[in-house]
Parts: sequence; structure tokens; C-alpha cells
Amino acid sequence: MECSVTGSIDLKKLDKFDVKLFELLYAQTETKTKTEVSQKEIDEVKEWLEVSKTSQKLTNPMVQLFDKLKSIKETHGATPEDIGIDKDELYLMAMKHKSTDEHSVSIGGRVYSALPIAKTANERVADYIKNHKKDAPSGFDLQDQIKENRRKIQAKLNMSDEDWDSYSGQIKYAITSGEQLAEILDIPQKLIDDIQRVVGVFRMRISPYYASLIIPGQVNDPILIQSVPTGDMIDNKGINIEPVASDHSPARLIDQFYPRVLTIKATNMCAMFCTYCLRLDHISDKDWVSSKNTYEEALDYIRSNENVRDVLITGGDALALSNKRLEYLFEELDKIPHVKIKRIGSRIPVMTPQRIDDKFLEICAKSNAIKPLRFVTQINTVQEITPEVHEAFYKLSKVTSAILNQAVLLRGVNDTQNKMWKLVELLQESYIRPYYLFNCSFRNPEFGHLRVPISVGRDLIESMYGNIAGDAIPRYLATAGGKIPLHRDNVAQINEGGDYILRKPWSGEEVPYPDMSMEEYKKPLSFDKYK
Ligand SMILES: *Cc1c(COP(=O)(O)O)cnc(C)c1O
Ligand code: SF4
Repeated sequence: MECSVTGSIDLKKLDKFDVKLFELLYAQTETKTKTEVSQKEIDEVKEWLEVSKTSQKLTNPMVQLFDKLKSIKETHGATPEDIGIDKDELYLMAMKHKSTDEHSVSIGGRVYSALPIAKTANERVADYIKNHKKDAPSGFDLQDQIKENRRKIQAKLNMSDEDWDSYSGQIKYAITSGEQLAEILDIPQKLIDDIQRVVGVFRMRISPYYASLIIPGQVNDPILIQSVPTGDMIDNKGINIEPVASDHSPARLIDQFYPRVLTIKATNMCAMFCTYCLRLDHISDKDWVSSKNTYEEALDYIRSNENVRDVLITGGDALALSNKRLEYLFEELDKIPHVKIKRIGSRIPVMTPQRIDDKFLEICAKSNAIKPLRFVTQINTVQEITPEVHEAFYKLSKVTSAILNQAVLLRGVNDTQNKMWKLVELLQESYIRPYYLFNCSFRNPEFGHLRVPISVGRDLIESMYGNIAGDAIPRYLATAGGKIPLHRDNVAQINEGGDYILRKPWSGEEVPYPDMSMEEYKKPLSFDKYK
């Protein structure tokens, strides 16, 4: 078949990228620096030229042709003429490429500009792609080990499958002392002593399921760090900043500092006590669930406050409440006309996914059909994302309007690029939207050893722009009497006259960004003239 583009060459049809590509291909190289092009390479180019001429609809042969020519020029210094390729024929190919591509992309645009951009983009994720399984193994990657851990723990605790698969069983057999932990994990005596010293002051509670995620022999295991209190918590020195509960609690169980959003702290119970918990004081005594009267007082505050449109049921952990209690709370909130949306905050699907039972799903579905219900959770490491957790969130995704993750930035848990990138990607793959990343609070010196400098978090967030899907990037916050954004500013400079210089987070390249002038902005809108 004949080449579909024939006739005269119209150089005006070439765009600036084509011109640059041709300049590159035909730039003269000093003869003595040229190296020999192998016959194999020449044959390859000629073959792609033939295919380019004959194929009617494909652009790839032309891309291959020009890419090979570019690479030959770059490695051997040889122009197309040097290897016997006719310049006019290449011009015709460039024109044919542009007329074949749906978006009129030129061959120069593709080969000279886009492919190198894609190449450097790929280089930015190369280390992540290569090393994420080693640097940040997920609950999926570790399945074999976790299954074996389960077998061992079940045997040691004398736990039936039925107990394992139920929330009540997971709570009943929860591990609360160093000795118990030593029985199921191979841990050094020094650590056991240290744990025993601490649990008198700070509570420990680990569900057998969550304990099965701990990888034996892994020093600084991210699950261990989050669940097992260590001597640091007592030895850390510093000033304890009083909890701000009374500053923000206008009514019983209620925390409010937004005019339109408030929380009901419905219980202080959790399936586990996290070693960095902001609510240390809240959870540190003993478990409580409020009476119905107490809830009524909280609900009354919401009923009488018409500005409130978003109510977050939290704790402790909201899912420590019974299905019946949650159903009652949802039903009451759904009856209040000015409450338009709801949230439930719980880390229990991560620590005991067994809690997500059919009845709870049914309650969510019913309430979500009346007014949107969002599920807010906390996953800090991919090691917490197992097939069970994935399944629990898949089910929740079908009966809620969104699932949002609030992670805490923790030393040794998620404070490297590969760990954080994998966390946000796997969250998305488990139907969860990364929502907030909290800098671990200064408020409690007890967990100072887990804190990460603000700048490290900023670098982590910054590293995601341009590399990770935009809706996988969480907002980075400090909690200090409210949530305060910590993101790095990418306005490099504001010039006189108001034009901005912006910085690309992924490359550092600075680009001018002319602003809209305030004068123009204040002019009447276009349709005003038809008044
Ligand atoms: C976090 C929080 C909220 C919810 O904040 P969003 O920014 O809407 O997620 C509301 N009330 C209190 C007291 C909170 O701590
Ligand atoms: S689940 Fe939340 S409230 Fe409960 S201990 Fe962990 S961080 Fe604290």
C-alpha cells in the first residue's frame, strides 16, 4: 500500500516540537566523535519506515521510527542522512502523524517532549515500584505469616474459630498484660518487664486478630509500636498540656468548635488502646457507655441548635457501642431537620473487622438512604490492610456515602515516602479516601518518642503531588485547639504587579502564573450589559 500522505511537503504544518525534533536529528556532530551504527539498528529503522508508510491508522510505527532515529543520533551522532534515510520522506511522516492522531499531536510533541516527560515521571516512582514490598509490606503481602500467627495465637489462647470470627470473642480474649503477650509472641524478657511497668499506668488492650498482624522477629514492627506501650511513655519528660475538653464541650458528650459540625463522644471504649492516643485521658480510666438519658441531653443540644448540620458520632470508638444503640442515635439524628449529614468515627474495622456484621450494615444502609452517612476511620500502615479489612470496607462502601481515613504520622510506622505512598494507594484500593494526616500532637509528652518533625510530614505530602492520584493525597494538619493546615506553600514568589511564580512540587521547576487583576475582576459580569 502507498503512503497515505503524498504530494508536496508543507513545512508550515510542522509545529515547534517538530522543528526542534528535526533540528536535533540533523544537528551536525564532529566526525571524530561519531561512532558506527550497526547494520541491525539501520535495518530496524528501515523496517519501521516501511511499516509507517503502509499502515493507515497506526501512529506507533512512526513513534518507533523517530524514537530510534533520535536514539541513534544521541548515541552515535549519526543523522538520518548518514544512515540513508531521506529527509523529505521524514517530513511526510511527520505530517502523516499529525493527521492520524485524534488530537493532532505532532511527532515532535510526542517523541521530543512527551516521551521524555513520561520517562522522568517513571523515574520518580522507580524506587517505590521496586522496593515497596520490602519497605512497606501490606497485610496482603504478609498473608502467609499472618495466617500462621493466627494459628499459633488461637492455639495458645484456646480460642475457637467461632470466637475468632466474632467481635465479642475478639474482645473477650484481648491481650492486656505483658505476660499474655509473651505467651503468644517471642519477645525479650526486658521488653516484658518494661510493658509490665507501663500497663500499671497506661492501659493495653490488643485483640488477638490485631496481634496476629505482628511479624515475629521484626524489630520496631509498626503494629507493635501502635499497640504495645513501652517504658518511654513513663520516662518521656515534658509538660502535660491539659486536655481541652472543657474548652469545647458546650453540653454533655458534645465537643464543638465549628459552628456547623460537632461531635458526640458516645463512649470511651476502644477495641485497642493506641500508644499515641490524643484522648489518653479520656480512655485511661475504665470503659463506659452512657445511659439513654445522657444521650438525650446531647441530642437536645443538637435539636435546639439549628446551625448544626453535620454530626460526628465518635468515642473512644463509636463501634464499641451496640448495634441497637447506634441505630437509636442514627434514627434520632435523622429526625432532626437541620441535621443534614452524619459521620461515624471508628478504628474498629481495622483492629477487629469481625465487628462489621450484617445488622450494622443494614443500620447504615437505612440511615444513609435518609441522609448521607460517612464512615471515618484510622489506618496508619499498610500492614493493617489485610483481606479481612479490605472486605469490611468494601461492605461499608456499599452502605455509606464515603469512607475517609484520618492517619497519624508516626515514627517507624509511616514516616518514609514508600510507606506513605503505599498507605494512601492501598487505602484507595480498599474503598477509602485518604482525608487527613495528623502530625502527632505535642500535647502529651508520653508519646513524644513517636512524634515526627513537621517538615518530614511536609516533604512526604509534597512528594505525592504529580506522582500519586490527587484524591489519594491527604490534608496535613496539626491539632492545637482545632485543626490547622500544615501544607508547604508552593508560591515561590509574588512579583510586583501581582504575578505569581509557582513551584512544581515534583521537580522544583518554577513557572510564571499571571494573576487576574483586581481591577478586571471588579468589572460588571458579562450578562449585566443585557439588563
Ligand atoms: C475533628 C473534629 C470535627 C470534624 O472536623 P472536620 O474538619 O469536619 O473533619 C468536628 N468537631 C470536633 C470537635 C473535631 O475535633
Ligand atoms: S482507637 Fe482512637 S480513641 Fe481509641 S485508643 Fe486508638 S486513637 Fe485513641
